[in-house]
Amino acid sequence: MSTIWYRPKTIKESKTMKKIIHIDMDGVLVDLGKAFDKFFTLYPHLRERYKKFPDHIQGVFRSPPPMDGAIEAVHKLHESGKYELFIATTVPWGNPMGASDKRFWIEDHFGNLFHKKMFMTHRKDLLIGDYLIDDRVKNGAAEFRGELLQFGVNWETGETNRFPDWNSILEYLL
Ligand SMILES: [Mg+2]
Repeated sequence: MSTIWYRPKTIKESKTMKKIIHIDMDGVLVDLGKAFDKFFTLYPHLRERYKKFPDHIQGVFRSPPPMDGAIEAVHKLHESGKYELFIATTVPWGNPMGASDKRFWIEDHFGNLFHKKMFMTHRKDLLIGDYLIDDRVKNGAAEFRGELLQFGVNWETGETNRFPDWNSILEYLL
């Protein structure tokens, strides 16, 4: 469990010296696929309109269900006292309302745990931290300078990633 990222002394260290974990939302904390399925079941006449970019559906990020074990696992990481946790999520450029939806989702499920600790970015490579838990390598995740813990199933290739579920993440980090 080595830390690859080097922090120059000029960058202020975290007050607590805890290791920093950035956590992606869709496909990691959030089961967005289920929200898409629900939407297309409720509104089959809109399937054509959104089938190419379902992440442009207005409001789709507001109340999707969490991934299995995600909420409990994040609490365990937090309670371990070893880590400072941040959200690192990309809001589709074509769905700007998604930013407030995601912000509300985090509060609904975690209360104040991520209070003022959310990065919304298309450049995860620019984040400073020790770990990034992400299901994909897009939006700079592959170039993240800490350790990328690739999570779940890669929906583009159908392959299972190194960390298939939250239990495997907890085993590695706790
Ligand atoms: Mg994702």
